[in-house]
Amino acid sequence: MITLKQIHKYYSVGKNKLHVLKGIDVHINQGELVSIMGSSGSGKSTMLNILGILDDYDEGEYYLNETLIQNLSAKKAAYYRNQFLGFVFQSFNLLSFKNAMENVALPLYYQKVGRKKRNKLAMEYLEMVGLADRADHSPNELSGGQKQRVALARALISQPKVILADEPTGALDTQTTQEVMDIFKEVHGKGITVVIVTHENEIAGQTERVIRLRDGVIESDGAENNSIINDVETAG
Ligand code: ATP
Ligand code: MG
Repeated sequence: MITLKQIHKYYSVGKNKLHVLKGIDVHINQGELVSIMGSSGSGKSTMLNILGILDDYDEGEYYLNETLIQNLSAKKAAYYRNQFLGFVFQSFNLLSFKNAMENVALPLYYQKVGRKKRNKLAMEYLEMVGLADRADHSPNELSGGQKQRVALARALISQPKVILADEPTGALDTQTTQEVMDIFKEVHGKGITVVIVTHENEIAGQTERVIRLRDGVIESDGAENNSIINDVETAG
């Protein structure tokens, strides 16, 4: 599904080049639930943005569904994003002048789906995230967790194969974090690949696989299963 081979990424800062990803090798199968961890500045968002075709890389190869994602025109990039990918961000990125249903329906609007059909589908996805009764609310009339659930419904409405989430619970309290995580797990249960960048052990501990970045390289990659370790420790 997703293969990164020796990916390098540089940012130009003034006259200098900042080497941010230093040879990333990752393969993610369809349907995996993966978290990416690592300290601030280690390259997590950069890696996620490359996976999301929101940013280019400088060396290496990125295959999405066996297609080499490289030097794509804006049109082709948009095609692959619409076809395969859904995004969720820490800051929700909802449109404040549209209500919850209209926000969820937005991707279909851009795909020129008629209003009646897109609103019907938007209601179905709002229902899936437990917010059918908030369809008329504007984002400022929703809690943080509700906003993130709307954002997830919007990401899901195009039926992506992969959901990419950059610190989706970074702005949420503990209980709301779990509510949002439960929906990610439900999405994963439907066979969608879910990749979550997070600082929180509680989140990473609920994923099948944790990729740890350190200064632009992969420090470790695999199942960690924190919850089992913690249980054993608690049991003495
Ligand atoms: P955080 O946990 O704080 O979100 P991160 O792991 O997501 O950190 P990145 O955003 O990927 O880190 O940034 C990696 C490095 O690249 C940092 O040193 C950052 O300063 C630098 N960087 C990120 N974006 C740019 C940019 N557009 N131009 C120049 N440097 C950048
Ligand atoms: Mg980041």
